[in-house]
Amino acid sequence: MKKLVITGGAGFIGSHVVRLFVNKYPEYQIYNLDALTYAGNLANNEDVADKPNYHFIKADITDAEHIDALFAEHQFDGVLHLAAESHVDRSISDPLAFVKTNVIGTVNLLQAAKKHWAGKFEGKKFYHISTDEVYGELHNPEEFFLETTPYDPRSPYSASKASSDHFVRAFHETYGLPTVITNCSNNYGPNHFPEKLIPLMIHNIINNKPLPVYGKGENVRDWLYVIDHARAIDTVFHDGKIGETYNIGGFNEWKNIDLVHLLCKIMDEKLGRAAGTSVQLITYVTDRAGHDLRYAIDANKIMKELGWKPSLQFAEGLEKTVDWYLSNEKWLNDVTSGDYQKYYTNMYQGR
Ligand code: NAD
Repeated sequence: MKKLVITGGAGFIGSHVVRLFVNKYPEYQIYNLDALTYAGNLANNEDVADKPNYHFIKADITDAEHIDALFAEHQFDGVLHLAAESHVDRSISDPLAFVKTNVIGTVNLLQAAKKHWAGKFEGKKFYHISTDEVYGELHNPEEFFLETTPYDPRSPYSASKASSDHFVRAFHETYGLPTVITNCSNNYGPNHFPEKLIPLMIHNIINNKPLPVYGKGENVRDWLYVIDHARAIDTVFHDGKIGETYNIGGFNEWKNIDLVHLLCKIMDEKLGRAAGTSVQLITYVTDRAGHDLRYAIDANKIMKELGWKPSLQFAEGLEKTVDWYLSNEKWLNDVTSGDYQKYYTNMYQGR
């Protein structure tokens, strides 16, 4: 029987990974380790909470002693590490929080795995989930990020993730820790906290609030449905080669402004509003400092070597996403009350 710890399992992507592993592998014991920050929400795990192979541990990865004690107690065989501070805008206002969780927190987990696996690496794996943002930005439309693209992080968020990736590689090279890393493009889908572009737009369209678009909305992102990312994580965890890196992406590039227009169209139809209603809510706001122009992933390695590919076309995934938000009003209302309002007012007031 395998014991796996999934960090950040109450967050957006982590909750989909927890759901997939708990349901698909009843023979594994799944430990969801999460500090429940503003981004962590146990409502995301409600549907698996009663399963006998699911366990929740409230713990902060910056607390080295607690992490060490948990590894001693549970003797995990595998780590899927998703816990992170994940929002670029927040990293600009509080970079140190990103160093603490993303860098120190990752090293604490690496240290615990190294100590408790004590050189006996058979059947063990430390899987670090990272982002394409570590590669910097692209200007040439013909170019894509490859696994060999040099790191060039430009925001405190991507710098902290790049640093954590380097530590994971260093623990593999220096101590032989069995690690694997993936760098994925932007995810979208159910359970996404509405500070990120797609759920923020859906939330604001529902509530007839302005749709803040940075700069001229020219920035390009590659979008992947979160359940396809969770499927890729399952594939890499089981079949990925130790010491390797795999890029994950959807070959699905969109300019922010085009994406917002598409969402407005879908939402007008879903809400029974006249065509062109929601587009009028678009409000251009001062661009994010150091806003990367384009990210685009070349996902050929994982496709060819491990046989993974995205299952959903973007239009279908977006429609599923919108449907989820419209039928989960309570979830949306709960996460957008309290502190969210203070954050939102600070971010966009006066812009
Ligand atoms: P999220 O912000 O939705 O969730 C992060 C989770 O980590 C939350 O449940 C939070 O409570 C938990 N957490 C934060 N600090 C912690 C700490 N100190 N100790 C324990 N738990 C803590 O993030 P997400 O969007 O689900 O991203 C998950 C991972 O995937 C991150 O590592 C992120 O860098 C990476 N990633 C995200 C995307 C994306 O588009 N969202 C794309 C590629 C990679």
